[in-house]
Amino acid sequence: MLIRSNPHTHTQFCDGRSTAEEMVLSAIDHGFHTLGFSSHSDILIKNDWCLTSENVSSYINEVKRLQQMYKDQICIRLGLELDLFSAGHIDLSPYEYLIGSVHMYRDPNTGIIYSYDWNPEKTTLMFREAFDCDPIRYARAYFSDVVKLIREVRPLIVGHFDLLLKFNDKLHIIDPDDPVYRKIAMDALHSIMETGAVFEVNVGAIDRGYRKVPYPDIPLLRELCRHHYPVIVSSDCHNAPRIDSWFDEAEELLREIGFRSVLELGPDQLLQEVPLI
Ligand SMILES: [Zn+2]
Ligand SMILES: [Zn+2]
Repeated sequence: MLIRSNPHTHTQFCDGRSTAEEMVLSAIDHGFHTLGFSSHSDILIKNDWCLTSENVSSYINEVKRLQQMYKDQICIRLGLELDLFSAGHIDLSPYEYLIGSVHMYRDPNTGIIYSYDWNPEKTTLMFREAFDCDPIRYARAYFSDVVKLIREVRPLIVGHFDLLLKFNDKLHIIDPDDPVYRKIAMDALHSIMETGAVFEVNVGAIDRGYRKVPYPDIPLLRELCRHHYPVIVSSDCHNAPRIDSWFDEAEELLREIGFRSVLELGPDQLLQEVPLI
């Protein structure tokens, strides 16, 4: 394993299983030089997976405490996974970097909020109720929100670019080989590439058994590679012992696709290059 850093980490401050300190100790154990915390931003509606206005300062203070406490062993960076629903509504000034992510959809006609990644039942319900079982409308809505978020907020990292495929191996809502779907995804990719935001190669859903390939999927990764566009590997870690799971496989996959290097969070510069060859 060449990558010694993870930019996408959740703890008990949002929906992670481990404490922030357990994450730090696991990262040190795995020989990491840098660890980035990226709690889910407060989305201002009642839920049990995001930071809240009550605990956001505890999150920031705890990460800062750990930064100091472990500074001789690891560089800890304070980040945030900024949800579309939080954009423009919360203070982003404490954070060293942002991961921009879409997790939910608000139906403009009914105002009902749906989730792309909670469970297959909720995804099926959204597909039926909000999109009349039309996969193309579903894909257009998702990617248009992703593009909007990234172009407006300009985060450092694009979170799980094609999250709408999370339960697709089970639900078969989208045919990933459908040229209409592929064009929608590719157009969104190209639009975001104009911003310079780094695409994360997120292996979290592989580790949790939902997907066999990372986000973004292979054709999208090939396109990024063709343009020598930078990517950063993340485990979207919610459980400390799994902090580097699938990193070896991700490196191998990216090498096979043709990437010669990836980015990672670094102790000196926020992003540093890791050669894969
Ligand atoms: Zn996410
Ligand atoms: Zn996440």
